[in-house]
Amino acid sequence: MEKIQQEIARTDPEIPFRASTSHVHYTWAKTFSSRPELYIQPQSLPEIQKVVKLARRCRRRIVVVGCGHSPSDLTCTSSWMINLDRYNRVLNVDKQKKTMLVEGGIRLRQLNTEGDKVGLTIPNLGSIDEQSIVGAFATATHGSSLKHGLLSENVRSLRIVLSNGQAVRCSAEQNQELFRAALVSLGALGIITEVEYEMTDSCNIEWEQTLIPLDEVLSRWETDLWTQKEYTRVWWMPYMKRTIVWSAAKTDKPLRAADENFYGGSVGFHTYHNLLWLSNYVPWILPTIEWFVFGMQYGFKPGSKTSAVEPLRTGLLMNCLFSQFVNEWALPLSRGPEAIRRLSAWINGEPDSGIPFSVKGLYVHCPVEVRVSDTRNSGQPRPYLDNTSSTEPTLYLNATLYRPYLQDPPCKDRYYEAFEWLMREMGAKPHYAKNFSFTNWQHISAMFRDDLQKWKQMRNEADPEGMFLGEWHRRSLGLGNAEMEKQQHFSLQESEVARKSARPGTCQLWMGSMSDSDSSTTAGQGKLVETTAETEDKHVSSGPQSGSPTMSSTSGESFDMLHAAEAEKSTLFAAPAGGEDEADDTELMHQIEKRYHGNPKDSMITGNTLAFDKM
Ligand SMILES: Cc1cc2nc3c(=O)[nH]c(=O)nc-3n(C[C@H](O)[C@H](O)[C@H](O)COP(=O)(O)OP(=O)(O)OC[C@H]3O[C@@H](n4cnc5c(N)ncnc54)[C@H](O)[C@@H]3O)c2cc1C
Repeated sequence: MEKIQQEIARTDPEIPFRASTSHVHYTWAKTFSSRPELYIQPQSLPEIQKVVKLARRCRRRIVVVGCGHSPSDLTCTSSWMINLDRYNRVLNVDKQKKTMLVEGGIRLRQLNTEGDKVGLTIPNLGSIDEQSIVGAFATATHGSSLKHGLLSENVRSLRIVLSNGQAVRCSAEQNQELFRAALVSLGALGIITEVEYEMTDSCNIEWEQTLIPLDEVLSRWETDLWTQKEYTRVWWMPYMKRTIVWSAAKTDKPLRAADENFYGGSVGFHTYHNLLWLSNYVPWILPTIEWFVFGMQYGFKPGSKTSAVEPLRTGLLMNCLFSQFVNEWALPLSRGPEAIRRLSAWINGEPDSGIPFSVKGLYVHCPVEVRVSDTRNSGQPRPYLDNTSSTEPTLYLNATLYRPYLQDPPCKDRYYEAFEWLMREMGAKPHYAKNFSFTNWQHISAMFRDDLQKWKQMRNEADPEGMFLGEWHRRSLGLGNAEMEKQQHFSLQESEVARKSARPGTCQLWMGSMSDSDSSTTAGQGKLVETTAETEDKHVSSGPQSGSPTMSSTSGESFDMLHAAEAEKSTLFAAPAGGEDEADDTELMHQIEKRYHGNPKDSMITGNTLAFDKM
């Protein structure tokens, strides 16, 4: 910490460095936590650039975190974590082009609220709107509609601070390659600080959901299932072989709440939660739970319907209920029926699944989420890491496994191993943010081939030392993996050194260390390197030099250049106010638990929508 203080003292005191040393980071589902050495919440571009400059001098990795809703360990670090929640303003609205220029920390909900004031809304959303705009598009987040692609499709331009501290703009017209690399960049390219996003006119949607047998869904697959309405998604209950089909279209009708059902609120929520908890000890009751819980809510016979009219910005959302693992894959839509039939056969222990893993004694949770997108017609540059099909519409299959009372279910590893095997066999690609765990960088390299190589080339040029790289990028993309040919060494890349949990199957504390660890110091529970000023000076003087560290560039010609290492005046090391950072672990766990899980009232989507109204 002394070295950091010294380096801060060398920088401009007029530019604050707002950092805390006691932050504990949790993923939404509380599957992972980590203790960053510093948690930094800048409020201006010069502050963001100062963080990058200090990280380079102090030899630290930077992880940008939106709201930590990525289910995997993608955002875990023992190094420096930067969060843009306080860099979240609307900078400009172009009513004619229907675009909004916003700072990178804005959440989707805030963007929609601000947009609504000028008659604009986000055209397509996933199940929630809590994500930061960048966190959402940087992981290839999607909704469910053949009229829309990934959320990145509506990014018209963006500004990114690279590892040299320069802020570079890019778009389809300007620095297109950087733009394609940045759209789905998994935090590995730099800090995206501004986004110009194309909205649509605010409107209402009328949604309807119906209980339908799986066979009927499969028979309508190629006719009107996905095309009858603008938005359609399906929840598949594997043991009942039934589905809930939710579909919605824009409407001029006035708002109308869904019919009330006594079971749809707290009663259903807590009943399901407790039954899932019981199933962790008696897994074979899961098919009965599926029948009971969904029968109580949607009726025991197919055909029952629920409907409502809501604003688009809330109508697309749903209640995700409890802490969960999610393992979601994108595959060509035409392969969907075969994939579903084979998975259905395997889960139900029927012959001909062709999946070479035993299902004996294995029981899984429902639903399997079935959604679609089509990225072919956007007319926008395709992100290098776009995981959708480029030749036909895309289907997403999402194997959800709940963690009742934050405890992993016993079926997880065997189910996910078999599921991922099938997905790979069907030509699918994983959703980056989610919990795939039996698929490594060799598999992913084979899936993306040249596109991954081009993305890596751009990334490595923009961040040659791996300031934005961690273990997830090594494990899943092969970046910094010693086995790879022509391996580039990333001296700032963070490696995982351990995971600890209080009990098996509970939240894992992730701990990392830096690549160049000649000497180390503890940061939270993790190990970090302390390097000397000479190391930094040597490094900086070895690269070509550009202008002032706080200088920003609107062209991309110089993003591969390092800063001059001129000394600046000192600045203060401030901890942000607020209770969360001071809270001890138990209290924090309790706060997060109350906020997201276990309280259906807190997690209501709108005043009228109960936990189960929309699955
Ligand atoms: C309850 C729930 C529901 C979900 N529903 C859906 C869904 O319907 N469809 C879907 O596709 N996904 C869904 N997801 C996944 C979610 O959309 C992604 O994980 C998304 O990345 C979360 O956004 P975030 O702001 O929390 O980002 P984080 O998880 O904090 O970060 C994600 C990645 O973006 C990077 N990043 C964040 N901000 C920046 C920045 N300013 N500059 C550069 N990189 C940055 C991070 O470094 C990281 O690599 C869901 C997740 C949850 C928990």
